[in-house]
Amino acid sequence: VKETLANIEQTDATYDAFLTTMTDKALAEAAAIDEAGIDPDNVLLGIPYGIKDNLITKDVTTTAASKILQDFKPIYDATVVSRLREQGTVGVGKLNMDEFAMGSTTETSYYKQTKNAWDQTKVPGGSSGGSAVSVAAGQVPFALGTDTGGSIRQPAAFNGIVGMKPTYGRVSRFGVIAFASSLDQVGVFTRNVKDNASVLGAMAGMDVNDQTSSDQPVPDFTARLDGDIQGLRIAVPTEYFADGVDDQIKATVRAGIDKLRELGATVDEVSLPHTKYGVAAYYIIASAEASSNLQRFDGIRYGFRPENVKNLEDLYVQTRTQGFGDEVKRRIMLGTYSLSAGSYDAFFKKAAQVRTLMNDDFQKVFADYDLIVAPTTPNVAYDFGANQDDPEVTYMNDVLTIPVNMAGLPGMSVPAGFVAGLPVGMQLIANRYQEETIYRAAYAYE
Ligand code: GLN
Repeated sequence: VKETLANIEQTDATYDAFLTTMTDKALAEAAAIDEAGIDPDNVLLGIPYGIKDNLITKDVTTTAASKILQDFKPIYDATVVSRLREQGTVGVGKLNMDEFAMGSTTETSYYKQTKNAWDQTKVPGGSSGGSAVSVAAGQVPFALGTDTGGSIRQPAAFNGIVGMKPTYGRVSRFGVIAFASSLDQVGVFTRNVKDNASVLGAMAGMDVNDQTSSDQPVPDFTARLDGDIQGLRIAVPTEYFADGVDDQIKATVRAGIDKLRELGATVDEVSLPHTKYGVAAYYIIASAEASSNLQRFDGIRYGFRPENVKNLEDLYVQTRTQGFGDEVKRRIMLGTYSLSAGSYDAFFKKAAQVRTLMNDDFQKVFADYDLIVAPTTPNVAYDFGANQDDPEVTYMNDVLTIPVNMAGLPGMSVPAGFVAGLPVGMQLIANRYQEETIYRAAYAYE
């Protein structure tokens, strides 16, 4: 833990991955572990890790990278954080992200600009950019992120590491600063598949504090990591190799799929016909839920409060005007609009119907297949500011990750190679609660 903290101190000027380090707390926890003695069976004991800043941590500043939560110190820990502590891991710091997890580059953070671990002139991806970079740059062995529309898988792809978004309901959302509650899920970044399986196993499972957490038993995700994928039935969706996906990425992922075939899997081409509606439907649903979730930031209860306000209404207005960044305001406006009486049927309801169709697409495929394999992103990491003038260009980048969230499925990105010196991610998608299948295939592939 000491070495990790020193290393972060030394290297973070290069990456700007961390918003806060938890030095005193981490050292105290590590000392308590030393005192209690080492349990040789616990592979996680004493392992330091990083926490995305939208997961609340008791007495440690938690901002979700927003000005509106400046200096906010929660009074309890997110369930994932307390569970990991019970397993002996040690949180060492809070990681940068897009404000309220809205974005794909970590550029919407109010505080700093995290740089890609491979090339500091490129975006790290997002929204869990700090988490991905901290793991890829060797600052921590693992980090937690959240994934609402790709925010774990996409930055994992951009930084050449393993990033798992579990099934919706697999991991408690208690203590996750809510963005879109029907899509949000906590997951894990690591440098290899087995580490990832170990960490997910330690934090997954039913939590009485989250009504959407599932009571499905949590298997030992490391149990079937034996390299054997003989007979695994893989589906490759045509729509994930459409125009707009970089040709070299397609070729890299096709080579990855060939390797899975050589290892004993069968591979067929399938169709997920509603893929092309995913981005439009997602941005309506996610923004609608965000507009509701973000109502609580009123200047009374949390964090930032403006000075010299005239009355209560002015306090609300000034808090939100000064406290939220442009992207967050855009989502609130889009969300409240699509939920309003005059546009609900035309927008929100339609988007919800599209979501059902996307789910049906997946269920048809999973009737005959164990795993879907595809690229994680249409392109590799790009320059800062590249899509500044046009948020829709950034939104389109999520086209290959959003469907998994819409259907509540588990999805993981694994490193598959490089294009122009930058990492490429291959995405593995399974049916609900089949994370084991993903880990087994990814481990054999790795
Ligand atoms: N890029 C997507 C968005 O901006 C996804 C973000 C996420 O998964 N948190 O909404």
